Amino acid sequence: MNHFASHKGELYAEGVPLADIASRYGTPAYVYSKKALSEHFLAYEQALSGHSHLVCYAVKANSNLAVLKLLADLGAGFDIVSAGELKRVLTVGGSADKTVFSGVGKRADEIEYALKAGIHCFNVESKGELEQIQRIARNLNTTAAISLRINPDVDALTHPYISTGLKENKFGIDIDTAFTVYQQAAALPNVKIIGIDCHIGSQLTEIEPFLDALDRALALVGKLTEIGINVEHLDLGGGLGVRYRDETPPPIKDYIAAVLEKLQERNLTLIVEPGRSITANAGILLTRVEYIKNNGDKNFVVVDAAMNDMIRPTLYDAWLNIEPVHSEANQLEEVCDIVGPVCETGDFLGKDRRLAVKQGDLLCVHSAGAYGFTMSSNYNTRPRAAEIMVDETTIHLVRERETIDSLMRGEHTLPETP
Ligand SMILES: *Cc1c(COP(=O)(O)O)cnc(C)c1O
Repeated sequence: MNHFASHKGELYAEGVPLADIASRYGTPAYVYSKKALSEHFLAYEQALSGHSHLVCYAVKANSNLAVLKLLADLGAGFDIVSAGELKRVLTVGGSADKTVFSGVGKRADEIEYALKAGIHCFNVESKGELEQIQRIARNLNTTAAISLRINPDVDALTHPYISTGLKENKFGIDIDTAFTVYQQAAALPNVKIIGIDCHIGSQLTEIEPFLDALDRALALVGKLTEIGINVEHLDLGGGLGVRYRDETPPPIKDYIAAVLEKLQERNLTLIVEPGRSITANAGILLTRVEYIKNNGDKNFVVVDAAMNDMIRPTLYDAWLNIEPVHSEANQLEEVCDIVGPVCETGDFLGKDRRLAVKQGDLLCVHSAGAYGFTMSSNYNTRPRAAEIMVDETTIHLVRERETIDSLMRGEHTLPETP
């Protein structure tokens, strides 16, 4: 269900007019729907019920504490890629023992922190990392549970920057080498093999690449069993796509059903690490039109959100639906680019859109709940946007808009020379 819908020409977040949020908290602002977040997470839980499973929400998609707390309370585990993300999970009472740690460059201090916290598993991405984990676990007199992230060499058929399961990508251990690395891991005294893992990319709109990766992982599981290495879980990563425009990704329940069908006879816990498919369509970016300008052939709508707030259009060629918050019938639409105030030609939210807008109007940038705020920056010394979560008719401020003073905190000029 769409929780950002129009009633009588006014866009709402659940039961709250977006215009009310703008007048109370200003723009730009990210707005999340509590109901949408819950529904998307529960779709995974429902599809997986009856099979041993763990849904580890990928924190990097949207790491706001209110989002994490909501999901933790619904029983989510977490997929983290840094000590900072682990701290966020622990801060909201998320379970360390439902948390898996991914990433190619885990630092020693991060490994130590995660081991002490008692995470479920390290998704190990190289032989060097495996040896580092063994060393740290031995020093702490403990055992580290690990799985190897294999690179199954399948094409996720997505944007090259978010494709991760090909040999040419930096991620994982190629599947042939992985067999050897598993044998090496089995010989390490402070490491316990519990799983196998892969994550082939993001915004996948087909099931096939997932199933190809699964087949390859299962083949390796079979080879490992033959030599006495048994894994308890298979982690298929995240990556299920969402509809931004006219994409038709499989519904969560169809994707999971197809995966479970292949796992039927196997006594393997299934872990998934969805990020985008939980948060993308549970959030929007609210922005106000500052100026309308025209350079000869082109119309520009200059808004107060910029690439520092939402980098996906310029980084990934992402297309996000942009809609006026208040629409009137029979208004003249014009083709325009929606651009921000940042001094970069790449600073746009949308190009060649038909819109009827004037100075001061509010615009809603849809599908902004994943990789929106978390990828935002302070470029041009712009304070990051406020974050709001709506619960039916109640507006909750879940992150205050940054202040300019807070941006300069921690900076120092050189001492005066006499
Ligand atoms: C980013 C990432 C995810 C989440 O991907 P989505 O496309 O947001 O579902 C899951 N696992 C790993 C290892 C990741 O890097």
